[in-house]
This record gives sequence, C-alpha cells and structure tokens, in this order.
Amino acid sequence: MRSIRVIGAGLAGCEAANTLSKAGYAVDLYEQKPVKFSPAHKSDLFAELVCSNSFKASRLESAAGMMKEEMRMLGSLCLEVADQCKVPAGGALAVDRNRFSEGVTERIKSDPNIRIVQEEFTDLSDDEPTIIATGPLTEGVLAEKLKELTGTDSLYFFDAAAPIVTADSLDYSKLFCQSRYDRGGDDYWNAPFDKAGYEAFWNELVNAECAELHSFEKDQPVYEGCMPIEKLAKRGLDAARYGPMKPVGLHNPMTGHRPWAAVQLRKEDAEGTMFNLVGFQTNLKFGEQKRVFSMIPGLENAEFVRYGVMHRNSFLNAPKVLDGFLRIKGTKQIYVAGQLSGVEGYMESAAGGILAARFLSERLSGREPVALPKETMLGSMMNYLATENKDFQPMGANMGILPQISGKMDKTERYSYYARRGLEVMRKYLDEENK
Ligand SMILES: Cc1cc2nc3c(=O)[nH]c(=O)nc-3n(C[C@H](O)[C@H](O)[C@H](O)COP(=O)(O)OP(=O)(O)OC[C@H]3O[C@@H](n4cnc5c(N)ncnc54)[C@H](O)[C@@H]3O)c2cc1C
Repeated sequence: MRSIRVIGAGLAGCEAANTLSKAGYAVDLYEQKPVKFSPAHKSDLFAELVCSNSFKASRLESAAGMMKEEMRMLGSLCLEVADQCKVPAGGALAVDRNRFSEGVTERIKSDPNIRIVQEEFTDLSDDEPTIIATGPLTEGVLAEKLKELTGTDSLYFFDAAAPIVTADSLDYSKLFCQSRYDRGGDDYWNAPFDKAGYEAFWNELVNAECAELHSFEKDQPVYEGCMPIEKLAKRGLDAARYGPMKPVGLHNPMTGHRPWAAVQLRKEDAEGTMFNLVGFQTNLKFGEQKRVFSMIPGLENAEFVRYGVMHRNSFLNAPKVLDGFLRIKGTKQIYVAGQLSGVEGYMESAAGGILAARFLSERLSGREPVALPKETMLGSMMNYLATENKDFQPMGANMGILPQISGKMDKTERYSYYARRGLEVMRKYLDEENK
C-alpha cells in the first residue's frame, strides 16, 4: 500500500488522513503534541479547537452552511463527529469541544491505515508525498524550511488585515468614486465624513472594546504602517485624519468641496464584489467593528465578509506559491492544507485537508485533478487561493467570492439561489469524478 505523510493532526491534518485512508492509502500522521505544544494548543487530543467552539452558521443559505453541506458531500470526518456532539447554539453548529476532539482522535487512532508518529516533523524533502497541515502557529525548523522552499517573502507570520465588506451592501448614494488626485482611474470609492460625523465616529472608535491578545501576541512588533486604526486614533482627534482617513486629493461631488475626512474602499477582487477598508487594520472585537464601522457614511448596512484582525498567523502567499491544487509550485508532491495555505477558519481548514488529500491522490493515480466548480463555496475558495493578488490575505467562506448574478433578487433570495446552485454543480462534479 502506498504511504503518504500528513504533518499535523489538527482539523486539516485529520481530514486529510481520513480522506487518504478511505481512498486506500497508508498514512503516517505526524503530530508534535504532547512532545511540543504551540502557545495556543493545550490538549493532547487531535483536532483541538484553540478558541471558539462554534463552526458558524448551519443554514444552507449562509456561506458557512453552504460550505459545510459541500464538505458533508465529500465525507467530512469533522462534521460527522460534530453532528454527534453538538450543543445548542441557535442557528450555529457548535460542539462540546472535548467530545469533538475525543471523537476525531478516536476515529483516527482506530483507523488501521493510519500510523501515528508522535514527533515534531522538520523534514521537507520531496521524496515522499506529503501534506503539510501544521496550522497558523507553524514555527521553528519547519517554518524555516518552508521559507527556503517558497521564498523568504512568501511565508507571513502575522496577519494585520482590514475588514472587507460586500459591494452590494453599500449605500452608493453616500459614496463617490475617485482615486486620490485622480491618479488611478476609478479604483476607489470614498466614504466622506463631515466634521461632526467624523468626531462622533472618532469618539466611538477610541472607546470601542478591543479583542484580548494572547500572551504570545502581546510582544508582536507592529510596524507604523500596520498600526491598528483605533490605536492610531488614540493619538489624538486628528491623527486618523492625517493618516488613512486623510481627505487630501479628494473632491466630493455631492458637496462640491473636500470632505473633512474620508474612508477609502478598494476593490478586493477583480470583479469588484468586495471592498477593503483601506488602512483599517484593527484589533477591535468583531461586534464592535460592526457597530463602529457602520457609522461610516454608506456603510450603515454593510455586510462584513471578513472582520479586521491583528494576530499571529503563519500563512503562505498562496497565489504565488501554490499551484491551484494546493501543491507547492516547483515540487513534485508537497501539498499544504488548512490555515497555513491561506484559508481562514476551522471548517475552511478542515475542508482544505479533504481537498489536498483528493488532489494528491488524483495525481498519484496518474490523473490531473479537475478544479471544483467556482459556483461551489469550496471551488471559489480554491479559486481565491489561486488568483493573483498583490495584497493577499487569508479568506474564509463568504458569498462575495462566488460568481455573482445580477437581477432583482433580494439578498435572501440570492443567497438561497447561490446555495442551491452550488450544491447542484457539486453533485454533478462528484458524479463525473466517480464515473
Ligand atoms: C489563537 C487562535 C485562535 C483561533 N480561533 C479561531 C476561532 O475561534 N474560530 C475559527 O474558525 N478559527 C480560529 N482560528 C483559526 C483557525 O481556524 C484555527 O487555527 C484552525 O485550528 C486551523 O486548523 P489547521 O488544521 O490548519 O491547524 P491546527 O488546528 O493548528 O493544527 C495544526 C496541528 O499541527 C501540529 N503541528 C504543528 N507543527 C508541527 C510539526 N512541525 N510537526 C508535527 N506536528 C505539528 C500542531 O500541534 C497541531 O495539532 C484561530 C487561530 C488561532 C491561532
């Protein structure tokens, strides 16, 4: 039986090992715990949930729900176990974290095709098929070797990201389209503040509640250009107005003069379905981001597909480094799965494990893998990882990355349509694959 190495028994690694075992491969699953723990991992068990116990929304008509349904179609181990140990959480799928990790560990350990190797893995030779799923806190020798393999500027250790909102949730009657000093065409939309609006916004911003940093994140140096917007604002009433909210070079056609301050919105994808709040990297709690940033003119009903974060997070510049099927470019058989590959979130990481295993086993059987259709959430996520992006940031499931439809559907109808469309093409894709 052909043997494959999977490194890391987190969410991605366990899914990868399970998928490969079911496909008839022998798996050597390397896990450094309990010999070595990252600063966030505490338990000896596999598939440890390092923070929340929620796998987000269950509803099919939500991005997270749609993705989970696709994962079920691909035989997700994590979801099978999650369904057995769920706890009440309204519309979300949340689990008893211990029972969840125990359940996954038990399934992996009792699988005769999977051999557990309890050690820190540091080798990156291309002589055996390998899936690296060592997660967002990958460090040490392995991180150094990954850097050597992918180029020093392709592995990031800290994520300082601004929030992203969907284009169709913005109120364009309050925005104007202009690049600063008209350099760069129509690349930016601007949300203009008057003096009173800016001061009210500043007041909420400096008093908003921040997320608690882990002890291992507190000493992280923050470069001046990456300063959280709330920290910058605390330097004084005008600090943000001389920083990312500067109005210079802008002319508001609605008033005929320069705004007092402005937030610039930059396209996040080529289609312009999502916008990034330029310079708004932040450490505010997610609920606070929604509350305070919804005070920005035009963003009153903004839908946040990703909140801003400032946290330790090792991830690869996927579009530059991976080949579209999670294999490191220039290698024969080294794949990357989970958060390290540039996805964001528990279930997204788990899904990456399933997909890396499928792509690798396709190639081992002599076939080139077929890309998942972009209408599926997983296909869109893979497409996001493969699409050139000069400011690549990890991304979780969201409706904004799917191919959009125009027409007069309201948001609920549209999301329901996307979910049904996705599942239908996923079914067809799997039927073709299984022929
Ligand atoms: C502090 C923190 C909090 C987070 N909170 C959330 C949250 O609430 N909700 C959410 O959706 N996402 C959250 N995430 C993001 C992400 O979804 C999780 O980190 C998720 O666990 C990633 O899954 P993974 O399989 O890629 O990595 P992990 O689950 O981290 O698994 C990696 C595994 O590899 C092992 N390993 C690492 N290096 C080696 C090595 N060299 N040799 C052998 N084994 C190794 C580790 O011990 C670990 O078991 C959080 C991330 C962090 C860092």
